[in-house]
Amino acid sequence: MGMIISGKQIISRLKEDIKEQLSSYNGVPHISIILNMEDEPSKSYVKSIQKTAEKNGFNISLYKVDNNTTEDELIEIIDALSTDNNIDGIIVTRPYVTRMKKDIINRIHKWKDIDGQTDWNMISLYKNEDGLYPATPLAVMEFFREVNYKLRGKHAVIVGRSKTVGLPLFFMLLREDATLTVCHSKTDNIKKYTEKADVVISAAGVPHLITKDMVENASFLVDVGINVVDGKIVGDMDIDYEEFEKDEKDLKFITPVPGGVGPVTTYMLLLNTLYGMKQRGKI
Ligand code: NAP
Repeated sequence: MGMIISGKQIISRLKEDIKEQLSSYNGVPHISIILNMEDEPSKSYVKSIQKTAEKNGFNISLYKVDNNTTEDELIEIIDALSTDNNIDGIIVTRPYVTRMKKDIINRIHKWKDIDGQTDWNMISLYKNEDGLYPATPLAVMEFFREVNYKLRGKHAVIVGRSKTVGLPLFFMLLREDATLTVCHSKTDNIKKYTEKADVVISAAGVPHLITKDMVENASFLVDVGINVVDGKIVGDMDIDYEEFEKDEKDLKFITPVPGGVGPVTTYMLLLNTLYGMKQRGKI
C-alpha cells in the first residue's frame, strides 16, 4: 500500500505543541527576517512565513536589504537584533546579499539563530550537542516520526549535500542509526545507489531527477525539492501519486510536493524560536 503523508497532518500536531508552549507565556514571540530584495523566491518564502507565524501568535518584522547594503549596515542590523531581548528569532534569507559573509552571520545570537545558520549551531549538530538545527531537515525528520518509521539499520540515500538541507540531514539520520549514502551533482549514475535504498531523500532542486524505476525498492521517499515547471510547483521526484497509492505490494510512504516538507519547515522555525526562548530563560 502506498501512503502519501501530507504536511497538513503533521502541522495539526505541531500547532498544538506551539499553542501549549505559548499558553504559559504572557508576551508575543518576535521573529526578525533580513530579506534579500534581489531574490524573488525569498520574497514569496517570507510572505508564507509571515502568514503562518502571525496565525500562530508570533510577530514578524522585516529588514529589507540588497546588494547595495554595506557590510557595516548589515552588522548594525544583526548586532541590534541579537542584543535586543524583545527579538526571539533572526532569519537571513538565502541566497545572501553579496556582503553577507559568514563572519556576519556568526554574529547572530546562537539561541536566536532559528534556521541553524551559524557555525556554532552547525557544529552543535555535527557533535550531537544542544543547539538550534536547520528547519528543513528538522521538518523531514517529522515525516518519519509521523508514521513511526524506524530508520535504524535502514539504508538512506540523500541526493544533495547543501549546508542547509542535505548535509544536516546526514547527521540527523546518522543519529537515528541509518546507514547513509550522499549523492550530488558529480555522482555518476545516481540510480546505482537509489535502487538499493530503503529511504531516498531528494534535495537537489532538479525536476524529474528521481524516477519510479530508480526507487523500486524504497519504502520511504522524501521530496524536498521545490521547482517551478510550466508555472506549477513540482518536486524532484517524478512519481505519479495516484499510482503510488494504488501499489498493493508493500507499505510505502511518500511526501508530496506541494503540501509536504515545505509548509512543515515554517512550523519548525516557530518551534526553534520557542526552544531558543527557553534557553534564554524567557519561557
Ligand atoms: P542547493 O544549495 O542548490 O544544493 C543542491 C544540491 O543538490 C547540491 O548539493 C548539488 O550538488 C545537488 N545537485 C544539483 N543538481 C544535481 C543533480 N543533477 N544530481 C544530483 N545532485 C544534484 O539547494 P538547497 O538549498 O539544498 O535546496 C535543494 C532543493 O530543496 C531546492 O529545490 C529548494 O527549493 C528546496 N528547498 C526546500 C525547502 C523546503 O522547505 N521544502 C527548503 C530549502 C530548500 P553539488 O553540491 O555538487 O553542487
